[in-house]
Amino acid sequence: MTTNFSPTDAVRGAQARHGSLLTLSHVSHTYDDHLAVDDVSLTVGAGEVVCLLGPSGCGKTTLLRIAAGLEVLQHGELRLRGEPLSVPGDRHVPPEKRSVGLAFQESALFPHLRVLENVGFGLESLPAAERRERALALLEQLGMAAHARAYPHQLSGGQQQRVALARALAPSPDLMLLDEPFSSLDARLREQIRDDTLQVLKRVGAGTLLVTHDPEEAMFMADRIALMRDGRIVQMGTPRELYCEPCHPFVVSFFGAVNEWRGTVQGGRVATPVGPVATPGLAEGTRARVMIRPEALRVTPVEVPDDERREMPAQRSQVIMSKLLGRSSLLRLHAQGADGSEANLQAQVPGVFLPEPGQSVALELDPSQTFVFPLGAGA
Ligand code: ADP
Ligand code: MG
Repeated sequence: MTTNFSPTDAVRGAQARHGSLLTLSHVSHTYDDHLAVDDVSLTVGAGEVVCLLGPSGCGKTTLLRIAAGLEVLQHGELRLRGEPLSVPGDRHVPPEKRSVGLAFQESALFPHLRVLENVGFGLESLPAAERRERALALLEQLGMAAHARAYPHQLSGGQQQRVALARALAPSPDLMLLDEPFSSLDARLREQIRDDTLQVLKRVGAGTLLVTHDPEEAMFMADRIALMRDGRIVQMGTPRELYCEPCHPFVVSFFGAVNEWRGTVQGGRVATPVGPVATPGLAEGTRARVMIRPEALRVTPVEVPDDERREMPAQRSQVIMSKLLGRSSLLRLHAQGADGSEANLQAQVPGVFLPEPGQSVALELDPSQTFVFPLGAGA
């Protein structure tokens, strides 16, 4: 299993001395008249894995292609180890001169070269024996050593992706640019290869900018995540910061389905069908949007005699349906607030918890997974 992958002190020291490995400042990019990247600034430190996360079409690949030099910088600044790589309308260091490792969605292996030769391709400065040894070691780490003599067309899409990763890592670049490198792997294998890749990246100390649309993948891989929407970064921070301290409703909903209500702040709270929610920092009378993650609801079965069902106390709900998802159970509930409001909502509970439809349950809220935003804040 994976252990603690935080950058080593040596890497941190190097980062402090040299500043960021990769710096993008106020980068914008337009295709025809479509603004695909809108004033993006971010840094990748030495040995740090940064994930560009966001829905399809939000500009992730464009940003990565700009960093790689596959797209010419139109606006802003791009530096590697402090040196400008691109100056709009002037300087453009071509991709092959940037000493970065690239692995893109459609991994283009050389069809006429065997797997081992593909991986050794960028190592021509090494003696043959050493080149072979290094290529084999990387294939080993990515579980592909048994296919060293195969040609790309003899491999599945997922195996080709792993070879492409090994090839990108082989010259030990200090910056890796990876675009959805695990997308063609099926779920179980994806977890394994992700884990292996992260270990390799951390072992070689490569700073990495990794594109994904999968929040779980970003949480697993990233030291920091830049969550994008419509060409802009909505929030940048550690996985924990984005998940537990989201700055915007979009950040909450991007990590999974949420229960949502709107209400007015009264006495420092907003009433919801599952009880009042505190609204620190919001003025009285503000219209607010309350977002409650399914795992924020603690669900306890209660026995209610039939003749009392009509006068159910607040925050008591009934089960509409329960489904086992595997590691957790998903419940659809009907809730009735103290104020008479009613709502359907969902709760996600660890393990096997499958109350029958109609079962009465009490709900308790975990405030740390409950978020309130003033309406108008992108609501
Ligand atoms: P993502 O990788 O997040 O899915 P992209 O960077 O590929 O997003 O694309 C961002 C936006 O730019 C999309 O609206 C896409 O349709 C558009 N786009 C991307 N590449 C081109 C291109 N070569 N020509 C015109 N529009 C493009
Ligand atoms: Mg893309």
